[in-house]
Amino acid sequence: MRKVYFDHSATTPIDPQVTEAMLPFLNEKFGNPSSIHSYGREVKVALEEAREAVADFCNVRAADIYFTSGGTESDNMAIKGVAYELKDKGKHIITSKVEHHAVLHTCEFLEKQGFEITYLAPDKYGMIHPETVEKAIRKVTILITIMHANNEVGTINPIQTIGEIARNKGILFHTDAVQSFGKLTIDLSKLPVDLMSMSGHKIYGPKGVGALYIRKGVRLVQLSHGGEHERNRRPGTENIPGIIGMAKAVELRRDGMKNEAKYIRNLREKLHKKISEVIPRIFLNGHPQKRLAGHLNLSFQGIEGEALLLSLDLKGVAASSGSACTSGSIDPSHVLSGMGIKPELTQSSIRFTLGKDNTEEDIDYTVSILPDIVQRLRSMSALE
Ligand SMILES: *Cc1c(COP(=O)(O)O)cnc(C)c1O
Repeated sequence: MRKVYFDHSATTPIDPQVTEAMLPFLNEKFGNPSSIHSYGREVKVALEEAREAVADFCNVRAADIYFTSGGTESDNMAIKGVAYELKDKGKHIITSKVEHHAVLHTCEFLEKQGFEITYLAPDKYGMIHPETVEKAIRKVTILITIMHANNEVGTINPIQTIGEIARNKGILFHTDAVQSFGKLTIDLSKLPVDLMSMSGHKIYGPKGVGALYIRKGVRLVQLSHGGEHERNRRPGTENIPGIIGMAKAVELRRDGMKNEAKYIRNLREKLHKKISEVIPRIFLNGHPQKRLAGHLNLSFQGIEGEALLLSLDLKGVAASSGSACTSGSIDPSHVLSGMGIKPELTQSSIRFTLGKDNTEEDIDYTVSILPDIVQRLRSMSALE
């Protein structure tokens, strides 16, 4: 059976060149970068080169890049770090309803500790408008955290304008750029962003590694305590193989970004067009143009997304559903419901996220199996 991977927004396969770059650091180059001897020094040099690579890619100083265990930790470090640092100045934070759980649940945690959070509603495409951000600002607002691109629908937010609003008001601006990093041009020397979260495993790098950009001068309360790693901001012996892998993945993105976005977008448009031709009553979720090249989030009216996902998986096609089925009850996607999409359509959504290794054959195969599955599920379904 053909296997098709359409879940690049969840994670990507590791590029073979990344694996190759990592291997020495899982074998002979095992030293602790904090050690003074040659084993340590050699690894320390590689660690700092990796930092340079990530920094160069975003056009910032290496000193402003801090390695973490991934996007989730970066989000936590940024949001809690600012909240605790500035709590005497104010306790109001602005975010959106469609953030990743790493941001949303961090904000909910802070809410329990007396912080006030405004969860902005996006438009029907999942986009956060700068005017809604501006309106939500109060005297006691200390942080605005709005994602760059949404992981479920791919919609890209106007972070340049949102950042300018934040800067004009003297409010710190954090963006979760896990989905856009390595796919869209991000020049942090020009963007008014104070903190930015990145991750390795969404860009053909390894899991369990990420980075946080912290603009020079931004102070954060430290969340975990230990040694003086990462210039005293993030203690713990560094995940060297992961960091080397992430840096290699970032380097590969330089060319990858230019060459692949168009290729991936073309494939995605083909998939969308062909599905639309053979299957009635489907709806696109997310912005028709301003979204990431690989995202195709569709609602198949009258079907449970989860059921469609399982049927596709049986045929070798890996996608993702917007809703999570926990103990028999459907938990609709907070992103789609935040966008104001009707419950019956949020429940029937499927997310295809394409990547650089997908082919025309993947599209053709998927389109060849989909109509039968949809017809069968629709005939069985109790949904309208
Ligand atoms: C995947 C993802 C994260 C979490 O990153 P991890 O490295 O898996 O912890 C955070 N935000 C967004 C938008 C993501 O897509």
